[in-house]
Amino acid sequence: MERLDKVLSNLGYGSRKEIKSIVKKNLVEVDGVVIKDNGFQLDPEKSKIVVAGEEVLYRKYIYLMMNKPDGVISATFDNRDETVIDLLEPEHAIFEPFPVGRLDKDTVGLLLITNDGELNHRLISPKWGVDKVYHAYIDKPVDEEDIKAFEKGVTLDDGYKCMSAKLEIIGPMDEGSEIHVTVQEGKYHQVKRMFESRGKKVVYLQRISFAGLPLDTDLEEGQYRELTEEELAKIK
Ligand code: URA
Repeated sequence: MERLDKVLSNLGYGSRKEIKSIVKKNLVEVDGVVIKDNGFQLDPEKSKIVVAGEEVLYRKYIYLMMNKPDGVISATFDNRDETVIDLLEPEHAIFEPFPVGRLDKDTVGLLLITNDGELNHRLISPKWGVDKVYHAYIDKPVDEEDIKAFEKGVTLDDGYKCMSAKLEIIGPMDEGSEIHVTVQEGKYHQVKRMFESRGKKVVYLQRISFAGLPLDTDLEEGQYRELTEEELAKIK
């Protein structure tokens, strides 16, 4: 059970003080009864709430897909830099969402943002082996040896042996290569360190797919949108 003013405030109907005044004006009904007490207890998932004649669409969770821009931190708060949460509109920030896993400050592309802790846990747990596909530019030519090494599992600078990863060469790029790589882990600087183990450097990194969801190419960097029902069904 939750307080009526808290539920409405979380849904963006104003501050608790503002909601108290709306309730005072007899504008709020719960299951057909006008409520006089802003601290009224209810189960928002079961009750029908009407404010000023309009039914309230209650939801607990939000699921967003962002095309993360360069220079922004994948965290809820940072002392120095802008975070992906700072880019959200108040109507979404009010749900107190957080990024699902992390992308480096200079990595761009698909980042899911939600306040659904259970789904977050499942998507970032290595146990579930969720695919993450990255598009990258590498400073030196990538070859068949690299593909084989990635398939076998490269060893990172700290001695960690990576799981098998699928590396595809898209084409030459300046002095180096353009590639796609699919990994199922999310170690710190994973892709960059995988290439470092081969003596090569990632000069541009973009995530183009996560858990089977492709990045919506209509989203400009820094833009985001809610997941569709079909997308959500795919990852839940
Ligand atoms: N691998 C990296 O090195 N960086 C990222 O941001 C994501 C994967």
